[in-house]
Amino acid sequence: MSFKELGLSDVLLKGIEEKGYTTPTLIQEKAIPAVLQGKDVLASAQTGTGKTAGFALPLIQLLSEKPITKRRPIRALVLTPTRELAAQVYDETREYARHTGLEAAVIFGGVKQHSQVARLKQGVDILVATPGRLLDLQQQKLLQLTQVEYLVLDEADRMLDMGFIRDIRKVISLMPDRKQNLLFSATFSPEIKKLAATFLDNPVTVAA
Ligand code: AMP
Repeated sequence: MSFKELGLSDVLLKGIEEKGYTTPTLIQEKAIPAVLQGKDVLASAQTGTGKTAGFALPLIQLLSEKPITKRRPIRALVLTPTRELAAQVYDETREYARHTGLEAAVIFGGVKQHSQVARLKQGVDILVATPGRLLDLQQQKLLQLTQVEYLVLDEADRMLDMGFIRDIRKVISLMPDRKQNLLFSATFSPEIKKLAATFLDNPVTVAA
């Protein structure tokens, strides 16, 4: 199976080629077509399986199919448990989106908010964030989530282990109900299943 056969467009294929990827990984083969079809996805995947590209590539494609408006609201949100993961997901996303004109940004705690806020003001299509800083900036009205069309919970099991469940629920409550939701997790505890049941709509289950 090639990336092209998975349904990715030329602008994405160009970025993939520049990254040096020749063949999709298993999770990419399974997740990319499901996301492109607009399905909610429940994916079990460890780090190192290529899971980031599994959600980022199809989301970038879906976003790039619609016009970029002047106000440039946040249309895709990726929540991660740690700032290291947020930075990593952001770096990859930015590279995949290189030829699309879409803008990505990352926000996380532990650093001053000033430069993150300045970046948000320039307009961001895809935001990668840790839950605490996201809610903090939202409460200060420095960002809004009312136009989000795609939500990814990355390493959801780690987010629950770190005690982020209330933050996650709060974030979900700030976004429209009608959106496409993806949940990636290495393990499937009863808590993950419960979370999945509350916010995924008829999900496709994929495993790496
Ligand atoms: P991840 O599981 O998303 O953390 O990805 C692990 C590593 O695999 C990252 O460094 C990616 O850049 C790389 N990667 C992702 N997809 C592919 C692919 N199809 N071929 C080769 N490397 C890849």
